Amino acid sequence: MNEFINEEEQRHIDKLKAFENMYDFMRFVDPVKKRIINFTGDEIKISSDRCFDTWEKGKVCNNCVSIRAYNDNQTYVKIEYSTKRVYMVTAMPIELNDRNIVLEIMKDATKSIVIENVVSNSVVEIQTLIDQLNAIALRDALTEGYNRRFINERLPIDILDAVMNEKNLTLIMCDLDRFKNINDNYGHLAGDNVIKRFNKIIEFCLRKNDDWVARFGGEEFIVCLKNTDIEKASQVAERIRKTLEEECFLFSGEIIRVTASFGVASLNEVKVPSLEGLIDCADKKLYLAKHSGRNRVEK
Ligand code: GH3
Ligand code: MG
Ligand code: MG
Repeated sequence: MNEFINEEEQRHIDKLKAFENMYDFMRFVDPVKKRIINFTGDEIKISSDRCFDTWEKGKVCNNCVSIRAYNDNQTYVKIEYSTKRVYMVTAMPIELNDRNIVLEIMKDATKSIVIENVVSNSVVEIQTLIDQLNAIALRDALTEGYNRRFINERLPIDILDAVMNEKNLTLIMCDLDRFKNINDNYGHLAGDNVIKRFNKIIEFCLRKNDDWVARFGGEEFIVCLKNTDIEKASQVAERIRKTLEEECFLFSGEIIRVTASFGVASLNEVKVPSLEGLIDCADKKLYLAKHSGRNRVEK
């Protein structure tokens, strides 16, 4: 598919040309579809190439700065690597033909990058450091599992993947019951331990590669089950519910039981497939679960 660029966009490109020697290559990407949009001369070409293939990891980048730039409408920078080279990637949100996309500017930084505490500055050492930094950006400080940013960046991609491949996708919204009482009666540190344990229990109940769980905030978690219908997802939620219910927490010499409520929503229930629509639907079911007595799964 080709589109022609207008005067304003041409000015954009001309301005970029002035910085030509500051970058090695640049490209436009659609960060949701994960496709590269090439421009040659005055023509825009949406290619079938996937943007993440540049990095030769065979999967979507966990630390995609372009989806971050697209979501927040601001510029982000990251260091990324392919097998032999290290690049500084700048992702700038731009509007092209009334469509929001992202301009990625790549600078080969293999030789020029200086990172404190990296002794030899070898590609392998830099790669390790990048992996560690990327992991930190998507991890929750308390649970060490995925955080809210992971949800914002990963869920739209999983939704699009499900829509394009005509597969189902189901979300479970989980919320600990009467959690304020745990904090009030046993202290915040005890509460923190419950949140951490809950995250581990959920992880334990999921498939290792296809599913994920992330902390949505406070004592709420979101589970995403790919290629899973609402019946199967409700069984998973039930398994999590039961495992937590049977767990014994020991606080100040007292054995405490904790429960949680669950709202299960499937992609084919929402009118327009979107992160907001799906989360909102799961949230409404969770509300029902809370108002029907808690410690239950509502689908
Ligand atoms: P409900 O069954 O309706 O969900 O009741 P609830 O008490 O769990 O709900 P509410 O939203 O009133 O309270 C949530 C509590 O979670 C209040 C807040 O202090 C606590 N909380 C949020 N984040 C953390 C955290 O990181 N650590 C601890 N210990 N508590 C947290
Ligand atoms: Mg809550
Ligand atoms: Mg709660």
